[in-house]
Amino acid sequence: MNSDPISRIDFPMQFLTRLKLLITVLILSFALFRQETVGEDTSQLSTGFSLKYIVIDPGHGGRDPGCVSQSGVKEKDITLSVSRKLAEVLRQKNEYEVFLTRADDRFMSLRQRVAFANQESFPPNQSIFLSLHCNSFKDQRIHGMESFKFDLDATDELAAELVERENAQESVDKFDFMIINLRKRGNEKYTEQVARILQKLLVKQLGVKNRNLHASRNAGVRGAPFYVLAWTKMPSVLLELGFISNDAERKKMTEEKYQDRIASALAKGIKKFDQQLPE
Ligand SMILES: [Zn+2]
Repeated sequence: MNSDPISRIDFPMQFLTRLKLLITVLILSFALFRQETVGEDTSQLSTGFSLKYIVIDPGHGGRDPGCVSQSGVKEKDITLSVSRKLAEVLRQKNEYEVFLTRADDRFMSLRQRVAFANQESFPPNQSIFLSLHCNSFKDQRIHGMESFKFDLDATDELAAELVERENAQESVDKFDFMIINLRKRGNEKYTEQVARILQKLLVKQLGVKNRNLHASRNAGVRGAPFYVLAWTKMPSVLLELGFISNDAERKKMTEEKYQDRIASALAKGIKKFDQQLPE
């Protein structure tokens, strides 16, 4: 007779796991069926990408300062200032429509940022999403630039640590991942291209250390499960512009002139990405 109390306790858990698996399979089958019959978003992507909308996401804001240095420099102020400058440079050229998830010092949840980016007015095959951040690390000697695309597993330990801080309360689990993968199918190559071009151009034009090189095996594009990258439908990249914890880099990042240089390098990178798109 089976009176093992443990298997009785396990039963509801096993049931839940199976139920979750069954639901996943059903959702995936439905999504695949729908895409094949209706030809949703992904078919648009496969017929090409032409850049019209740029959504800039200044990290943190309001009651969320992001990283703060001992001297009181806040990540949220640098990200906002650089984002505004980038918007200005791009608007002057008048080639794209530019939008900011926040244009002042206000708190916005990660969900709100994603909802903003996923508005119908920004078609995933005509838009890119750039989330701007600054880094911080206990070893104050560390400096340089990093860029990320979405990946369920962080490509390296430091990326995993970083994602924990940037995601705060919102995490991305494996169950979500299958859904995300379906939604983003078709735009990975554009994400990869934007990330690669921006990283290379910023490193060159600003003369900063390329922290993607040794950290990733995949020729300079790192991946980590950032919430905003996971749920935005368009190609999306998160940039860590420099380390607030490094004295020299922090000083530069607070200077208007240096922020202008970041903005113009980013604008150049966006243009370069656009020019490399097939006709
Ligand atoms: Zn941040």
